[in-house]
Amino acid sequence: MIITRFAPSPTGFLHLGHALAAKVAFDFTKSRQGQFLLRFEDIDHTRVRPHFYQAIEEDLAWLDLQWDEVPWKQLDRIPQYQDALEQLKRLGVVYPCYCTRREIQNIVNAPQGPEGPLYPGTCRGGPTLEGDPAWRLDCKKAAALTGQLTFSDQRGGQIEVDPELLGDVVLARKDIATSYHLAVVVDDAAQQVSHVTRGEDLLPSTHVHRLLQALLKLPEPEYFHHELVLDENGQRLAKRNDALSIRSLREKGKTPAEVLRALSSSGRKLI
Ligand code: GLU
Ligand code: ZN
Repeated sequence: MIITRFAPSPTGFLHLGHALAAKVAFDFTKSRQGQFLLRFEDIDHTRVRPHFYQAIEEDLAWLDLQWDEVPWKQLDRIPQYQDALEQLKRLGVVYPCYCTRREIQNIVNAPQGPEGPLYPGTCRGGPTLEGDPAWRLDCKKAAALTGQLTFSDQRGGQIEVDPELLGDVVLARKDIATSYHLAVVVDDAAQQVSHVTRGEDLLPSTHVHRLLQALLKLPEPEYFHHELVLDENGQRLAKRNDALSIRSLREKGKTPAEVLRALSSSGRKLI
């Protein structure tokens, strides 16, 4: 069965970019009698606000993008992420990192990645110390274990994984013992998501996700990275861009059909 999901973080109201992500996932699965799941990616617990869970559900319902099943919350699934981290520890592909945020910001000559400077591996091969570390993926070691990998993207075709693209990413933060990368891979597999649809800004992350799937022996979903919705200045919509929140469009008297129509464009439709 086709299963897609929409995975917003309850840290703000949905905006047009989210509506597009939800609609792409919804349309694809519903034209094939599949399921559309809603998952709250709420591990960024300091930024999560309780009222946004409900607001997101209300906005999706208003857009008539009705989800199947009870939505999952990642904060309910910390033990599952810990299990996955333990497996990675046993494989020897993660290492503890004791660097503070400030130390990382002050690193000079850090290698550049698509999203900014990469962690240069300061703690790699270092000792295990007192206190709660973050855990980082040793991307070179991981790649040596998995061998060359690819993933299939409905827009980009068969893409070779570049295991070093994002460097030694954090898989478990000090405070929450998981991260976006680890949680998304564990949950997409647990929810049997067949098609991962999301904005093309997350394409670099997919290289990490494919690597983690291979290490954890999880199934490989199909991917579709859709175009992003840009504002009138050609900039990505930020959550702070409240003018384009679904809620404010609704308050201005827009109908759901008008909002959804504003989103259609060829690179945004998964055929
Ligand atoms: N939680 C992410 C977001 O709000 C989506 C992640 C994903 O679809 O993999 O953009
Ligand atoms: Zn470190």
